[in-house]
Amino acid sequence: MTIRGDLLIHGGNVIDPGRDFSGKADVLIQGNRIVDVPQGETVEAEKVIDATGYLVLPGLIDYHTHVFYSGTAIGVHPDSALLPQGVTTAIDQGSAGVTNFDSFIKTVVNHSQVRIFAHLHASPAGLATLTRCLEPVDPKMFDLESMRSLFEKYDRQLVGLKIRQSREIVGEWGLAPLEATVQMADKLGSKVRVVVHTTNPPGAVEDLVSLLRSGDVFTHVYQGKGNNILTNDGKKVCKAIQDARSRGVLFDTADGRGHYAFSVARAALANGFEPDIISTDLVRGSLFERSVFGLPLIMSKYLSLGISLQNVIKACTSTPASLIGMNGKIGTLASNAYADIAVFQLKEMPLLLQDVFGEVITCSQVFVPRMTVVNGRVVYRSLEF
Ligand SMILES: [Zn+2]
Repeated sequence: MTIRGDLLIHGGNVIDPGRDFSGKADVLIQGNRIVDVPQGETVEAEKVIDATGYLVLPGLIDYHTHVFYSGTAIGVHPDSALLPQGVTTAIDQGSAGVTNFDSFIKTVVNHSQVRIFAHLHASPAGLATLTRCLEPVDPKMFDLESMRSLFEKYDRQLVGLKIRQSREIVGEWGLAPLEATVQMADKLGSKVRVVVHTTNPPGAVEDLVSLLRSGDVFTHVYQGKGNNILTNDGKKVCKAIQDARSRGVLFDTADGRGHYAFSVARAALANGFEPDIISTDLVRGSLFERSVFGLPLIMSKYLSLGISLQNVIKACTSTPASLIGMNGKIGTLASNAYADIAVFQLKEMPLLLQDVFGEVITCSQVFVPRMTVVNGRVVYRSLEF
């Protein structure tokens, strides 16, 4: 029997951690879906693209981005910033709060080819006040009723709450903003996750992480400002963090320009403490800059720090897909999934990367984006491919 489709990506090295698959394979698309090609069947397609020698991956999911470009100073334009990097889904982490979330949906989410999901900032105006002044976090201002109506109205796109717990943001409030955010998430429903920003936290990391529930996300896991996830001697991951992982708390890199330290990442990885999620924390000032550039560069960084190719890809595909309730629909090349695909060249190329503490590492292999497909349509392709 011959199986027909619209687009065939032929002969690439497919890595699809969601199905535990890795090997040379064809990927066939019909309409906006992936079509299963059983071994030994012949395939015919309107258009065939030869991907021999290239990596063919599920479209990448960047779990920590800021894409509210029309309403914040830090937001990037999702289609122009992400599609050329193989990123087909973005989760916006708290750019908008209850006062401006409608505007985010109407001006950005509804007009983007990138699939956009979001965590609502507990602070009412989200990150609209950045970069001149930090968001206010007095828990009395958090508006549960407005949150509830937004979660009902946008139940597909809104997947959780966001709060930032840095000393310079929370001041005398200490851990109270996080405590209030977790309580509100509990009231909003069982699937509402809390993502917490953890640079320079007030007090011990142990106290902060003890507030997180199974399914919540500790973001900027390898950050090095103030207290971090390591024991005082900087050699081991502290017990409270290990315990949090055992009870289902997840850990995201969200590197940003300064939210990681190679010393912390190296010590954690030496202890086998890999991130669940690899993401960028991309903002306008770091897009296409060496500090972040985009998700493929962050993936290259973790590959060179020793995480396996399979695990790096899993942390940007099937894991974040399951966190936003899209398991099997995106972040995989399984039959009937949305046809979101990213083709990369894994190029041998020395690239120096520096953290804000001055430490430099050299990446030897870099993910270079060559083609991106969203919903069955080619939305980016490099001329060389
Ligand atoms: Zn962020």
